Amino acid sequence: MKLSIRSIYIAIYLLLAAVMFVLIHFLGVHLISDSLITERKAALYEEASALSKRYFFNVRSINAFDDQTESTLRERMSSLQTMSHARYFLVDGTGRISVDSAEQNSLEGQNFNDLNPTFLDSDTYMGHLNSSYLPKESLSIIYPLSGDHDINGYLVIMTSLKELRISARHLTKSFRICFVLFFLILLFILLELYCLTLHPLRQLSLTIREYSQGHFKTKMKNLPLREYDSLTTAIHNLASSSKNAGAYQKDFVANVSHELKTPLQSIMGSAELIENGLVKPEDMPHFIKNIRTESARLVALIEDIIRLSRLDEGVEIPKTEVDLLNVATETAELLRGNAEAKNVSVKVHGKSAVVFGVDRLIYEIAYNLCENAVKYNIPGGAVDIGVDARKGKALLTVRDTGIGIPKEQQSRVFERFYRVDKSRSKDSGGTGLGLSIVKHAAAYHNAELTLESVPGKGTCVTVAFPLYDGSENAE
Ligand code: ADP
Repeated sequence: MKLSIRSIYIAIYLLLAAVMFVLIHFLGVHLISDSLITERKAALYEEASALSKRYFFNVRSINAFDDQTESTLRERMSSLQTMSHARYFLVDGTGRISVDSAEQNSLEGQNFNDLNPTFLDSDTYMGHLNSSYLPKESLSIIYPLSGDHDINGYLVIMTSLKELRISARHLTKSFRICFVLFFLILLFILLELYCLTLHPLRQLSLTIREYSQGHFKTKMKNLPLREYDSLTTAIHNLASSSKNAGAYQKDFVANVSHELKTPLQSIMGSAELIENGLVKPEDMPHFIKNIRTESARLVALIEDIIRLSRLDEGVEIPKTEVDLLNVATETAELLRGNAEAKNVSVKVHGKSAVVFGVDRLIYEIAYNLCENAVKYNIPGGAVDIGVDARKGKALLTVRDTGIGIPKEQQSRVFERFYRVDKSRSKDSGGTGLGLSIVKHAAAYHNAELTLESVPGKGTCVTVAFPLYDGSENAE
């Protein structure tokens, strides 16, 4: 099962609350009462030390006080008990209590060793003493009283632990209030965080769903965090490119269908006339020629579409070293027949310029450009194919003295099926895909394509390939 961010937030919150509650409720009370006890111990010890210095600085025997001294001591200890909420005992060396500051339930005459045999073993005692007249849990300071370097007795100051524990609980109460406040604030912060992080994600997924259903008009909401900006831009770009791709696909299919339909209709028309015996024998060659020309146009069109779709696939094709001068010379040779038929001269000049690329594609670039330069030329015109190597570039330039292309249409001639003069293109067997193939093949080689043209004067197309310097990473 996949976790949701919301459940993670809730789990973190509850875990934090539980941990904090346990810490404050149990460990907090324990730590506070421990520190109160330590403080109390130190205070009682100091008091015992001060009392002993003042009253018992040279005690020989606890039992050896005269009546007067004993009653003064009792009075003093009783008033100390009232002031400090502690009980005072004077104990002799055997553990017998000779003076008890408490008047009621006095333990005078009893022995601490009977209440707990380990009581006098250390300087503090914490716990239970076996007497119903003493608190259940107590803290005692056992201060030895010495005279002539012998321990003659003890001053015991005893206080109940119950009160200390109650004070500790009181103190943790304030902590608990802080704890509740802290968790309210934390809850608020987590809710804010939730709104800042999860809510926009939900908005984004809703917008993406809209886009995926083709509703590209849906506006992307302005999201609160900067981190979402790049995500929104990426989604926006993706949406626009899929919108364009969809529109482009539609256009392309419509164009292809139209381009295929026209020659097919012409073939069907001629074939029907022949089939129904409506063609005179002397006209027969004309109709048969028409069928052959239209069929050739169909084949050329289908071949161009296949070429383009292969380029669109972007499949990696093996590359070799290709000399543009050889390509130019061979292309000129191939087109010589066409050129002569149109009374157009074709010349090649320049020097060797080597490119690392796909030779078939480079031949296609040269052939399409030169074929256009002949096709859209005037009788008696010229085509000049130049090859040069300059500033890290291998340049192929095809210049003609033909009809030229109007300025506003120059950027459109590389679009699929775009023709400046439809009938002229069709008459000369054009498919409207030649320059589109050139554009894609040039992009495949990272070559720059520039077109300059002046109507009535001619056109010049330059392809600037990266010059091959011997390393395959030359591009
Ligand atoms: P086509 O098969 O029609 O020649 P292209 O894609 O090769 O298709 O060219 C697109 C259009 O650009 C052509 O129909 C033509 O109108 C124009 N064109 C291309 N090259 C030239 C040129 N050298 N001189 C004038 N017009 C040209």
